[in-house]
Amino acid sequence: MSSPFISELVRSLARLPGIGPRSARRLALHLLSNREKTMFPLIQQMARTAEKVTTCSVCGNLDEMDPCEICSNPKRNRSLVCVVQGIPDLWAIERTRLYDGVYHILGGVLSALDGVRPDDLSIGELCRRAANDGVEEIILALSATVDGQTTAHYIADRLTGAPVRITRLAQGVPVGGELDYLDDGTLIAALRSRSRISG
Ligand SMILES: [Zn+2]
Repeated sequence: MSSPFISELVRSLARLPGIGPRSARRLALHLLSNREKTMFPLIQQMARTAEKVTTCSVCGNLDEMDPCEICSNPKRNRSLVCVVQGIPDLWAIERTRLYDGVYHILGGVLSALDGVRPDDLSIGELCRRAANDGVEEIILALSATVDGQTTAHYIADRLTGAPVRITRLAQGVPVGGELDYLDDGTLIAALRSRSRISG
């Protein structure tokens, strides 16, 4: 590559999640060929966002204010805390417009393979919230993966004795899903967490 600036840009882009070296080269070229329309506005937008957005000291959400809009909204039910792995999961639950409680962002799930240990997650903070903040129910909304469920069990253990009800999301047949296409694990989970419709 001709310019070290370009190589440096490509290397930085390639460090972003989901971007390999080939995509990084294409992005760098696209940005450099569309400097006025894309690259300069993006630079400004990134600088503004990096300056304005902060991490909520209560739940770990990203927002312009601390505590975040959700934590400081008086219409939110503070006795209900939904524990999620990351902010994309918070966004997903917010999109349902069904949930009026608050959140706790763990920052990941326990993983022996990736070397994620309890101290790497905000489990201590969650225990403190459960003990102090008038919390009545903690919903463990973690992925239905081995790591997600290991983390849920670990948290439930740590919260033993705290005056809270611990629940988790139901697992089973997805909306629109045909039984014949489900994997055995999903079908077993669906049978186990079946719910009453009458009688
Ligand atoms: Zn918050």
